[in-house]
Amino acid sequence: MKITDLKCAIIGENPVVRITTDEGISGYGQAENTKPYLKPHVLFYKPYLLGEDPTNVERVMIKIRRMGAFKPWGSSVSAIEMALWDIAGKAAGLPVYKLLGGKVRDEVRVYNGGVRFPMAGSSPEDYAENMRKMMAAPEGFSIIKQAIGFHSAMTRQVPNFFYGDLTGGAPHANRGPLTEKGLKHVIACVEAMKDVLGDEVGLALDCGPGWMLPDAKRLAQALEPLNVMWLEDLLTGDYTPYVSADLYRDLTTSTSTPIHTGEQIYLRQNFKDLIEKQAVNVIGPDPEDVGGIAELKWIAEYADLHGIMMAPHGIFDALIGLAAEVQVASTLPANYIAFEYPVARPAWWYDIVSGLPDPIVKDGKIKVWDRPGLGVEFIVEAARVHLNPEDADFFD
Ligand SMILES: [Mg+2]
Repeated sequence: MKITDLKCAIIGENPVVRITTDEGISGYGQAENTKPYLKPHVLFYKPYLLGEDPTNVERVMIKIRRMGAFKPWGSSVSAIEMALWDIAGKAAGLPVYKLLGGKVRDEVRVYNGGVRFPMAGSSPEDYAENMRKMMAAPEGFSIIKQAIGFHSAMTRQVPNFFYGDLTGGAPHANRGPLTEKGLKHVIACVEAMKDVLGDEVGLALDCGPGWMLPDAKRLAQALEPLNVMWLEDLLTGDYTPYVSADLYRDLTTSTSTPIHTGEQIYLRQNFKDLIEKQAVNVIGPDPEDVGGIAELKWIAEYADLHGIMMAPHGIFDALIGLAAEVQVASTLPANYIAFEYPVARPAWWYDIVSGLPDPIVKDGKIKVWDRPGLGVEFIVEAARVHLNPEDADFFD
């Protein structure tokens, strides 16, 4: 089998990759929402793929993996990797999980990152109210993640929240020492959420990046009695092109509250320090940024050897990404907690893809399906309507 073309279309908010072959099988991959600028980056890899056998996934990846980087510049390589696995599975007549070593669970737990309700403000009462709504969501999530601190609107909405200056614009670029008032506000909001959730539903907190190390320690220690699932990205995180394992190790060894990072990190080599130094308790690579699903599987196995848990990122991974997450999550060792459940945007995405369970999430879990490849397909006639004029031949 040989690759005959690599295409990329922006469908809704997501770049979608399609790899075609001389045997009529094609595979799909996807990058995160709101990244239309990735299209030329995806197509940059085309000359390296043409003529290759897509079922030798690793051999193809060796050619292109070097030419990626931390988020968002690992997305194109990651989406191509997913599409290669989709083809390999379809060619073998097997679900991708079989090619990754086989599933160890029939249902995969997800945590709520994608089902969101507008927040009225940033007060403890606003956080409690928002948690009530998420707790009542029909998906029956057993873990809910909420944004606080530098990952939230607190920086703008809580007066004198921190001593630094608001950067504005760039996502999560604020950074600086917290005021005592700011720190107390964060803690009060977490307490308000826990008052709602009790010990029925786990609470994970996406915190930054942007915290100074002493503030991060104070927060983690103050929250110890509340048994939160994890504190995510306090020091580095979204769009940070480095890891800072030594700083994370200092934080993690100072507290019993689990510390989490990793959504922007590209490749296993860049998880090496975090894992070997046991610098965090939980890592969250995103299959659409880390280099793909086999890359994520390798990292999960290595993390398990070092007592580190897995909670893969995925809030913007949309439906092909969701399928890829389900396939790989079903194969991960017992250090797997849950992956972050994405909600596709716009909502018509659910009308152009077939193969997902209905409802997708039940009692906080997704049942693993057995169709070949990633196991989801475009309903081409329905999807074609949403193609931009320049992508009109995407499905041809
Ligand atoms: Mg995050």
